[in-house]
Parts: sequence; structure tokens; C-alpha cells
Amino acid sequence: MNNDYLNTKGRIFDIQRFSVHDGPGVRTIIFLKGCFLRCKWCCNPESQKFDIEKMVVDGKEKIIGRDVTVADIMEEIEKDRIYYRRSGGGVTLSGGESLRQPEFAAALLRACKEKGINTAIESTGCASFDKIEMILPYLDLYLMDIKHTNSEKHRQFTMQPNELILENAKKIAEKAKKLIIRAPVIPTFNDTENEIRDIAKFAKTLPGVDELHLLPYHRLGEDKYEGLGRNYELHSLELIPDEHIQRLKTVVESEGLKCQIGG
Ligand code: SF4
Repeated sequence: MNNDYLNTKGRIFDIQRFSVHDGPGVRTIIFLKGCFLRCKWCCNPESQKFDIEKMVVDGKEKIIGRDVTVADIMEEIEKDRIYYRRSGGGVTLSGGESLRQPEFAAALLRACKEKGINTAIESTGCASFDKIEMILPYLDLYLMDIKHTNSEKHRQFTMQPNELILENAKKIAEKAKKLIIRAPVIPTFNDTENEIRDIAKFAKTLPGVDELHLLPYHRLGEDKYEGLGRNYELHSLELIPDEHIQRLKTVVESEGLKCQIGG
């Protein structure tokens, strides 16, 4: 077999081992650098630019981003295979947006599948569909964000309209092995019952989709903005009370979808 794809290069900024989020079981999360969106609430602002950059962490300058090959990452992944087997876990590509580096993402997912490892991606689906088609054959689970059904509001908070994302969601639903929709719930953006209902109604139209995850707003990434010399625009937002998130869960369930709070 030609193993050249193992030499495919990509740019990551972190690897998180032993995660119990973003897919089933115990997972290794690979964070790819670069994203097409600029969500105001983004908790990984260091992921957004593809360029390698500097961020001040605990008073010290840290280089964010490194170039690796698929083979380099597979060496890391091999260390955790025993945990995947025992827990039904695997590898999740996150970011950033993996579709910013489709050749690398596809080669990495392919390498995992060659080893029988479960694969997932956390993605906005904001890319031309030919890029998405490159990764689908090697993917067990597509975790796709639908942040808002109103394109103008989507653009105000993420710097991108949503038409391409909604269109891709339909195509992904038809072709992916499994698709789960996720909605970050952000005060002043999409935290009303009507807005979450609209997302649930859209998700319900997607063939095979029976699950929607609500990801409540948090500000764990706020310090990173300062470290990057950037302004965190949402500092005046309050966290969402648990009763309200539970109400939104009921709204999703009333549309006939299973609902989980958190990833
Ligand atoms: S899509 Fe995700 S990584 Fe990209 S800016 Fe939004 S929150 Fe950040």
C-alpha cells in the first residue's frame, strides 16, 4: 500500500488526551490551526489565524502553532489506543476548523481508520462541499455547529453568513455515517426559546439527524484574548442560568430530537 499520505503536513496548536467530550468514550482531540469564522465568544481565539503566532500565557510568551506530519500525530495517538478500545473512544479533530486544512484532515482521519480507530470531527461545515467530501469517507461522526438560522445575525456574531453552512448541513446529512447538530447557546445571540426552536426545526429536516447538543456559553477563553493583545467583546455577558438551559432542552425535545447539554 502507498503510505505517502502519512507525510501530509498540517498545522496544529494543541493535542488534548483523555477527553470525554466531543465524541464517544475516551478521546484524543487534535486542534488544527485556522478557522473561517470569527465567533465573538470563541474560547480558542489562538486557533483562528492559520499563521503561527505568539500568546502571553501566565506572563510568558508562548508560540502557538507547529507544523507536523500525519505520521507525527499517529505516534501520539498510538499511546492512547488501549483507552479507545476499552471505552469505545477514538480521535476527534477540532480547532479552529479542520476544513481550513482539508488535505491534512483527510489524511489524518484516513490514518486513524487504517488502524481501526473511531473518528469524529467538530466542524462548522463552512467550506466548499468538495473539501467536506474529502473527509467524509474516513469519518464515523460529524459534530456540526448550527449557530443561528438567521444569516444576518450569524454574520454579526461570527463574521460569516450562514447560507453555505445550512446548505452543507443538508448534504452532510445525506452522506455522513452519523451527524449530530450542536448549538453554542450565547446570550444576546441565540439564547431565546424561539431561536433554539428554529435551530431544532432545521435540524429535524436533516435526514438521519435525531440529536441536538446545546453548549452553554462560558468564558474560559477570555484571558487568551488579553494574551493575544485582542479585545474580548463579550465581557459584560452573564452566564446562562441552569433553569433556562433546561427550558431550552425541553424546547429541543418538543421538536422530537434527543437533547444533551454540553458536548
Ligand atoms: S467556529 Fe469555533 S474555532 Fe472558529 S471562531 Fe467560531 S468558535 Fe472559534
